[in-house]
Amino acid sequence: MSLTKKILIALVTGVIAGIILTFVPENVFHSLDTYALTPVGQIFLNLIMMLVVPIVFVSIVLGTAGLGDPVKLGKIGIQTITFYLATTAIALIIGVAVAYALHPGHAGVFNIKDASYEQKDAPPIMDTIVNIIPQNPIEAMSSGDMLQVIAFAVFIGLAIAVLGDKVAGIRRLFEQANEILIFLINGIMVTAPYGAFALIASAIGGAGLNAIGSMAMYMVAVILSLFIHGAVTYSLAIKGLGKASPIKFYKGFFPAMSVAFSTSSSSAALPVAMKTAQENLGVRKSISSFVQPLGATINMDGTGIMQAVAAVFISQVYGIPLSFTDIVLIILTATLASIGTAGVPGVGLVMLAMVLKQVGLPVDGIALIIGVDRLLDMLRTSLNITGDAVCAYVISENEKRKDKNHQKKQATAK
Ligand code: ASP
Repeated sequence: MSLTKKILIALVTGVIAGIILTFVPENVFHSLDTYALTPVGQIFLNLIMMLVVPIVFVSIVLGTAGLGDPVKLGKIGIQTITFYLATTAIALIIGVAVAYALHPGHAGVFNIKDASYEQKDAPPIMDTIVNIIPQNPIEAMSSGDMLQVIAFAVFIGLAIAVLGDKVAGIRRLFEQANEILIFLINGIMVTAPYGAFALIASAIGGAGLNAIGSMAMYMVAVILSLFIHGAVTYSLAIKGLGKASPIKFYKGFFPAMSVAFSTSSSSAALPVAMKTAQENLGVRKSISSFVQPLGATINMDGTGIMQAVAAVFISQVYGIPLSFTDIVLIILTATLASIGTAGVPGVGLVMLAMVLKQVGLPVDGIALIIGVDRLLDMLRTSLNITGDAVCAYVISENEKRKDKNHQKKQATAK
């Protein structure tokens, strides 16, 4: 059986097992979770997390060295960032529109008197931008600060490109390190069905379905918006901008989406997302290795959707209407907030606190959505990494087409 089929079975059985586990007595679930599900899931998570920093570093060095030319890198960088900001803004608009259409905040009784949420600090956006260049690259690697690792890798890659044959040995070393890392990911992916099953069953069993109650309409609004963005915005981007097939894209990218779903972390899913984009979709290595790690940190469309729906939901529950300016502010703040926060489970709520504060909505409202957030995190993380891969796919298809046209022109000139 193919790995994709096995992962699909793991997803479905993981969800079913999770739902069944919400009905077993608390202590039975606790023992099963502590001694079986969590350890198996955590070992899988550790295995893939172990590779994130090395893969991002090595592949960006090689990707940048492969592009060879800082101007080309700059062009791809601008296209990538424009794509990311535009699609995140569209995602937020969809979230706001769906939330206003479905009125999740009027769909039940909510206990706002007891709601309280302690806000964690998110980094100010200017600090994030200034600190992209690390003072200490080793520290950046050890703390997993992805933007800093990316910046350092780009510098090394550019130096290798400029120095050419003088540093051919180092280039070869990076190529060989890349081989080793790909070999390891392939091995780790064999364990993905078991890891994914355990993580999903544990997450759903732990979150419990009775938390849903009045939150059902909120969940429907988030899930519907995620679906619209995935099915419409991304398909239009793939077809319109990349002149490629969305069906082929989704079929090929499925294994990475399932790892994101089970881990709820864009960072953890990154190694698999890059491998899948390169091998199943034919995305050029030099593009995938630059565009996707950047996206795992700065592009979170699924998280944007959750923030948009949550902000409208909280405004409805507390009876604080939002003006048009407030909505524009929500879209702007949420788009910018995604730049500085790494793709790890639950970080969307930290960003949401920033957004709510910006428009004067009560941060305590987050307490209402926490109960169901773990479940939604799985879905939105899948969309987060899909957005990064769509961008890489579109840019790569266009580059391939440009190169083909160029070759044709040269052939006719001869
Ligand atoms: N878990 C998400 C991610 O890693 C972030 C979030 O929405 O909490 O992409």
